[in-house]
Amino acid sequence: MIIDCHGHYTTAPKALESWRSQQIAGIADAALMPRAADLKIGDDELRESIEANQLRLMKARGSDLTIFSPRASFMAHHVGDFAVSSTWAAICNELCFRVSQLFPEHFIGAAMLPQSPGVDPRTCIPELERCVKEYGFVAINLNPDPSGGHWTSPPLSDRHWYPLYEKMVEHEIPAMVHVSTSCNACFHTTGAHYLNADTTAFMQCLTSDLFKDFPTLRFVIPHGGGAVPYHWGRFRGLAQELKKPLLQDHLLNNIFFDTCVYHQPGIDLLTQVIPVDNILFASEMIGAVRGIDPETGFHYDDTRRFVDATPHLDADTRHKVFEGNARRVYPRLDRALKSRGL
Ligand SMILES: [Zn+2]
Repeated sequence: MIIDCHGHYTTAPKALESWRSQQIAGIADAALMPRAADLKIGDDELRESIEANQLRLMKARGSDLTIFSPRASFMAHHVGDFAVSSTWAAICNELCFRVSQLFPEHFIGAAMLPQSPGVDPRTCIPELERCVKEYGFVAINLNPDPSGGHWTSPPLSDRHWYPLYEKMVEHEIPAMVHVSTSCNACFHTTGAHYLNADTTAFMQCLTSDLFKDFPTLRFVIPHGGGAVPYHWGRFRGLAQELKKPLLQDHLLNNIFFDTCVYHQPGIDLLTQVIPVDNILFASEMIGAVRGIDPETGFHYDDTRRFVDATPHLDADTRHKVFEGNARRVYPRLDRALKSRGL
């Protein structure tokens, strides 16, 4: 089985975007604020939006199951207040749940949280628990910077985030550390802000003792871990300067990297530098980089071919990257699969 741990509903019917525009208009003029019930999307529309896009590509490329969350750049936690984020997250999560119901063999949910700048993360717990208990979601996306590129929240190691971590541990759900749209002109959303955040999250964990407080807390750092694998020596050296344990013991029981690195040399480096137990297959397909690489003739986000081709994996270790590690990192996913005899 090939499990893609990083997929977003980037192809949702246009009505969703229209509803969101209306909601944003409603922030300035309350008379324009739509109700959640005003959004009407039928199952046929959902089915079509998946069959023509993600599912078509999954079948063509040979992946089986995607951990599916709302579109990351649309989370835009910096827009409006908690009430705005709360309604928006509930709508987006419900759509991913419905996709997982329509295609249970191919999609299982991960929740977007109703984060809002300056608001206690504790407020996200009801939506988190609803998604886990009612929707069978197996993970969350945690935005370390709800301000959208201004970094006004405390680091991930701060006690500010602990109420969420307690719930993650209790429910055995990992968090993909995933920012959203940048509203800071200095940082391009997917080219800079995403990769900055991946690197920043890793370093926040490195300088702290977060995983002493939460030995079973798990973070998936997407986009191949940002700059981390490429600069592994720097991070090892910094940990040494800070008198931290070896990274293997300090962070690698808790931090995992996905394979959303869109070229062969990147996957070769990732698989050479990072222990195989810490690498999870992912494509983030139909995401930030949708084109075809003229050097190969294949889509940049067709990441399976890079994992297949890298000389640093054999049959056993490739199986870990494609399936085994995901079952370990996402215990609720493993249990859902086992309950279906898989
Ligand atoms: Zn993503």
